[in-house]
Amino acid sequence: MDLKPSEVATVLKAEIEGFQGRMQKSNVGTVLMVGDGVARVHGLDDCMMNEMLDFGNGIFGVALNLEEDNVGAVLLGSDSKVKEGDTVRTTGRIISVPTGLQMCGRVVDALGRAVDGKGDIKFSESDLRPIEGRSPSVPERQPVKEPLQTGIKAIDSMIPIGRGQRELIIGDRQTGKTALIIDTFINQKLTGGGDPNHKDQVICIYVAVGQKQSTIKGVVDKLEQNGAMPYTIVVSAPASAEASMQFLACYAGASMGERLRDEGRHVVIAYDDLYKQALAYRQVMLLLRRPPGREAFPGDVFNLHSRLLERAAKLSAAKGGGSLTALPVVETQEGDVSAYIPTNVISITDGQIFLESSLFNAGQRPAVNAGISVSRVGGSAQIGAMKKNAGGLRIQLAQFRELAAFAQFGSDLDKATQQAITRGQRMTEILKQPEFEPVPVEEQIVVIYAGTSGALDDVPLGRVAEFEKKYLAHMRANHAEVLTSIRVDKKWTDDLAKRCDETVKAFKAEFLA
Ligand code: ATP
Ligand code: MG
Repeated sequence: MDLKPSEVATVLKAEIEGFQGRMQKSNVGTVLMVGDGVARVHGLDDCMMNEMLDFGNGIFGVALNLEEDNVGAVLLGSDSKVKEGDTVRTTGRIISVPTGLQMCGRVVDALGRAVDGKGDIKFSESDLRPIEGRSPSVPERQPVKEPLQTGIKAIDSMIPIGRGQRELIIGDRQTGKTALIIDTFINQKLTGGGDPNHKDQVICIYVAVGQKQSTIKGVVDKLEQNGAMPYTIVVSAPASAEASMQFLACYAGASMGERLRDEGRHVVIAYDDLYKQALAYRQVMLLLRRPPGREAFPGDVFNLHSRLLERAAKLSAAKGGGSLTALPVVETQEGDVSAYIPTNVISITDGQIFLESSLFNAGQRPAVNAGISVSRVGGSAQIGAMKKNAGGLRIQLAQFRELAAFAQFGSDLDKATQQAITRGQRMTEILKQPEFEPVPVEEQIVVIYAGTSGALDDVPLGRVAEFEKKYLAHMRANHAEVLTSIRVDKKWTDDLAKRCDETVKAFKAEFLA
């Protein structure tokens, strides 16, 4: 065949023009079907994953399923205002929330809109951050090395949490999971005096997913009463909110934390809880006809949690050294930690705090099972003085657990066994702690030392709590320099041990007299 070069060029040009015509994508579509909070939209060829879609009438949605001939979206408001045949537009914007310090002290919904009746939150365009972001890469991180003091003796001593770590709080309902978070938040007041603008103040974010409005209100009230609200952001997605809002709230909270983390601040975020988030996600995804897998959850429910928790990090010095610590909560049914969601989240996190109903009901509160709870970051998240003293505590408690079964035989036991039981009982008593009373780390150390050194062995079991309280008051009033020295130098010295020995001895004589 004879082809002239000029003809080839013409043919190619025509083909290219035609191809470009086909590449012209439309960003206006029509609703094919709507119901149960989800919609299918036809004609949005140009749509991005997680893009905000404008359904008109002030209703927005998020594109979650990009299929060949339609887009599946969840609605972020009531579906009653949307009907078949309505026009839908892409907005060119990935779903974003306002971030920044001005969010502190406020209760917001999953889109960052104030829901506390205190007026709109002011923010500029640059404060908007997409709710899903890339988590920091390995070179952008550094190992966890600073403690996040929870103020809870059982945790700071045996299951220490480091800034940037992901520590799961897992237990049945009503075992004190939320209480651990509230106490941790209250304790952060010690870092910067409770002023969110103080550069050392750890900012707290509480994401409430699928809980009753009244429960969330209760948490906010407790934070307020204890002075923790000024540096706390609450993201509220109650059970009454759309399922879409419930599973997006966690990502919204993470974005608010990341913004501050990237500015070199330290942030702790609690997701309460991820089981309810997974349920909300399952609901939406089944409606969007994603195929169900194990326990009817869609196949990517592991990714749902891993990409959320991956955003917790301790950033490298070059990146400002900020941190985002994640405290996800998972509720178990009848203590079953081998169910699908618990095993997923256990495998993603760097440690677990197991709370048990039996301990809780026996009055051991916080109901931490010290035998199986772990923090894989370990001692690097403790100050030296705590590391030194907590080692003895762990061993004595482990011995006690082995022997506890024999305790009922009382006097038939040999002396060493009796001794270990006496010690263990006192240590267990020391680890009990009422709510809303976080203990500064230096005071924890002094009390734990008193226990492990055997000074409490002759204090009647029923009076250990009273002893602890009065002993600490005595230390604060008369030996403040010991406490200051531990707090500032973070080291445990023979001299400190000696001074503590002397003080506790003198105090005990008075106390028991
Ligand atoms: P849910 O599963 O309903 O979310 P939860 O596991 O979050 O429950 P909390 O609400 O924190 O549990 O606590 C349950 C109850 O136990 C609350 O009434 C709380 O006041 C009480 N409680 C929690 N921790 C302690 C504690 N250390 N000492 C005394 N009471 C506590
Ligand atoms: Mg709770």
